[in-house]
Amino acid sequence: MSKTRVFLVGAGPGDPRLITVRAAELLRKADAVVYDRLVDKRVIDLASELAERFDVGKHPRGQFFFEEGVSPRRIKSDATDELSKRGSSRGSIDQAAINDLLIELASRYECVVRLKGGDPFVFGRGGEEALALLKAGVPFEVVPGITSAVAVPCYAGVPVTHRGISSCVTVVAGHLDSGGGQVEWEEIAKLSGTIVILMGVAHRAEIADRLMRGGLSGDTAVLAVSQGTLPYQRSVRMKLRDLGRTELGSPATIVVGSVAEFNLSWFERLPLFGWTVVVTRASEKASGLTAMLEEHGAFVLEAPVIKKVPARDGGKSLKEAAQRLREYDWVVFTSPNSVDELLSVVPDLRYLGAVKIAAIGQGTESALNNWHLKADLLPHEAVAESLATALINLSGPAGPRVLFPKAAGAREVLGNLLRESGWQVDEVEAYRTEVGEADPTMAEAISKANAITFTSSSTVTNFVKLFGKRTVPPVVACIGPVTAQTAASEGLQVSVVASQHSLEGLVDSLVEYAISVSTPPLDGSSV
Ligand code: SAH
Repeated sequence: MSKTRVFLVGAGPGDPRLITVRAAELLRKADAVVYDRLVDKRVIDLASELAERFDVGKHPRGQFFFEEGVSPRRIKSDATDELSKRGSSRGSIDQAAINDLLIELASRYECVVRLKGGDPFVFGRGGEEALALLKAGVPFEVVPGITSAVAVPCYAGVPVTHRGISSCVTVVAGHLDSGGGQVEWEEIAKLSGTIVILMGVAHRAEIADRLMRGGLSGDTAVLAVSQGTLPYQRSVRMKLRDLGRTELGSPATIVVGSVAEFNLSWFERLPLFGWTVVVTRASEKASGLTAMLEEHGAFVLEAPVIKKVPARDGGKSLKEAAQRLREYDWVVFTSPNSVDELLSVVPDLRYLGAVKIAAIGQGTESALNNWHLKADLLPHEAVAESLATALINLSGPAGPRVLFPKAAGAREVLGNLLRESGWQVDEVEAYRTEVGEADPTMAEAISKANAITFTSSSTVTNFVKLFGKRTVPPVVACIGPVTAQTAASEGLQVSVVASQHSLEGLVDSLVEYAISVSTPPLDGSSV
């Protein structure tokens, strides 16, 4: 029996964290993903690199088309060309063509995921696709998603029902006709409760008029939310009589009724909401920082300016040092990378035996913890000088031997201070860093951001090399005093220096700063 299945999957209203566990699981194993315009790239990126991707984006005017410039990275199939030829105008494909594509993919693949914004069965034409699959004898499953009709008002602080105020919700497509006849707006006006209008931006003036003609007061409260659940969500509150002349971005969800008077705003009150923050860490290290910033409502732009590359000698000296590990009294780490580089070439972790371990800060310590190791020493402040002082202040055998695996070009100060105090220091190049790549569209976006985070001196110097000083956003936030000094010596004005020199500390200090200035220093118009 064939295992082939087509999954009609809801991708949620926008925020990629609002997809279901089932959707994430299916995306990871999908052979092909067919998606709409409103599906966030970060959701699509949950699919494997190998999955074939089809962008069948639906144009606001109702046509399906391939968006130029945001076309999928890897369209291999002839089917896509064929589909666009069959469409009604240049590059457009219609629903029948999408149905055919799903059936065709089912003949080639076991797991075909059809991703749709929100819920597939709420104005998603999921029913039509399911009918087509049923008719073609292709097995399918449907995975519900969180619909924007409920989630978008929620992210703007409006419950669609409320005891004693509204116990009925009508979800309407904001077309003037439903495809099957006129939408009776005058009749809808007579229903009590909440009216949620999707796809209503274009005809909002006529909709408002007809609702009022049907008996709704011009004073009825209205909430319109554009780009809901996303970090650049915009909500506008007004009276029904003003809906027609209020500017609205697309896509928008419009809520009409008394519940729209609620303002239980929570998302837009997050301290970094409205802030676009640039993260400059190497991409494999960025995700933790990105997630923490998003947690506070920020829109994060990842612009990795550093790439980690192997040591100049291909790791030979590090390997030799690892063989002799037992001969040292201390091994000193000043970055998570040096922990991972050394420990991945130690032939047997028991070589560490009695060797004591020093770590410069929390990030380095958590890299040790990942290897089930603990640091014997952690300085008060995560800077080389404090680490050197802490080590020197220890009473112990004269002239301890210390292994110091480090990045090529890292500061000399730690080794020098220890040597001056009679320590024998072997400094070994564990890895090198290189400048990342500059992308012109990224430069444009960065120049419109509100803040930038620097997590080491090299992120500063590399950023300036790649993008130039003029691109630097107004708020510069540094992980500690050394990074801040490098930024200052590059001529940047530093607004935030983390009081705790860790990623958490950096985020906390930026959040405190954001609270103190209350509005972002630019309008975040990059999005
Ligand atoms: N199946 C989807 C709805 C598709 S119709 C669902 O269940 O959510 C598309 C309409 O949904 C848009 O025109 C808009 O009215 C609404 N919508 C989708 N995403 C939205 C968002 N992020 N913010 C506000 N409205 C959104």
